[in-house]
Amino acid sequence: MIHVADAVRDGFKKISITTVDTDVIVIAISVFKDTEAEEIWLAFATGKHFHYIPIHDIEQSLVLFNLGFYQYSKPLQVATLYLHLQDEERKQHGYMECFPRETIVIIIIMATAQPSCDICLNLHVTKSACVWCSECEEAICEDCVQRHRIQKATKNHKTILIEDYQQLPISILNIKLECGDHNQKLDFYCSNHNEPCCTRCVSENHKDCRDLKPLPEVVEGVKSSAAFSDLEDRVKDLSQVIGQTIQEKLNIKSELEVQRNSIISEVEGARKAINIHLDKIQDELLNNLTTNEAQQRDNIDRLIGKLSKMQNSVNEIVYAVEKTKQHASNFQTFLGVNKWIIEIENHESEWKSAQSDQSMATVHLQMRRC
Ligand SMILES: [Zn+2]
Ligand SMILES: [Zn+2]
Ligand SMILES: [Zn+2]
Ligand SMILES: [Zn+2]
Repeated sequence: MIHVADAVRDGFKKISITTVDTDVIVIAISVFKDTEAEEIWLAFATGKHFHYIPIHDIEQSLVLFNLGFYQYSKPLQVATLYLHLQDEERKQHGYMECFPRETIVIIIIMATAQPSCDICLNLHVTKSACVWCSECEEAICEDCVQRHRIQKATKNHKTILIEDYQQLPISILNIKLECGDHNQKLDFYCSNHNEPCCTRCVSENHKDCRDLKPLPEVVEGVKSSAAFSDLEDRVKDLSQVIGQTIQEKLNIKSELEVQRNSIISEVEGARKAINIHLDKIQDELLNNLTTNEAQQRDNIDRLIGKLSKMQNSVNEIVYAVEKTKQHASNFQTFLGVNKWIIEIENHESEWKSAQSDQSMATVHLQMRRC
């Protein structure tokens, strides 16, 4: 591309580049604007696949989002659409990974690369082909197809529409009618080596092979053969089985979610039940504690009442003894002492029994359930 830029600077505005590398196409499209060339043509690929790619046209189409170009084909629509989205948007659509920008450009190029008539190309004329002859291995335009139908050498050739040809898998398109080693028509098939061969292959590599048959004989009726219909059935069956397996796995996946949700609600339910149970135990314990405390307070109050009464009686005796000592006669004192001794003995035993009262012994609270 540096050379292209140099060439443009030197006054050459129409450039042609010969390449077989798709990367060059991508680079050429991406830098076309910067080169300031009027036209860049890529002479792309070799042999029958050789064609010119107008980079300037493609670049222009991408910029203008030309609708005619856009409606060309389904993959092209998708590819062009996503090429015009910003990278960020394409990431959101999930197309970034499977459709990088370069791939999209190549899809567009492949979709736009309408095959040209190979016969006309030999005369340096570019015309869109309408049919494909697999025996000539040539794309043929509407004008040339008439001659192809009449001429002796080709009148028995079967042709297919170019649209149908483009739908054939690449692996089938790559199968050649000529031997790659000797450039001769493949006329035989060796069942020992499982390969088609030309006359020279036969004499060079298959001298001792017994199962050597003419190719037309081997391929005759292949589409109605048991092997072909068996293959058809097998691929369809396999596809169906894989589809079923995928569906099963998807079902298991959604079943997993159901199971997860039910376990979560089970755990939540158990947790709620445990909470309710704990609340109940707590309430019971607190109730018991309150009752227990009230009972012990009552007991203590009762004891204090009893003891206060006792103390008053004893204090009366203390006062009486003191006054008697000060003012009474010996006789009075003698009789009083005997009376008070009996009273004091009563009070002493009363106090002792209060001391040993079991209900008064518990003076601490306990946390226990009934
Ligand atoms: Zn033609
Ligand atoms: Zn032909
Ligand atoms: Zn050969
Ligand atoms: Zn062989």
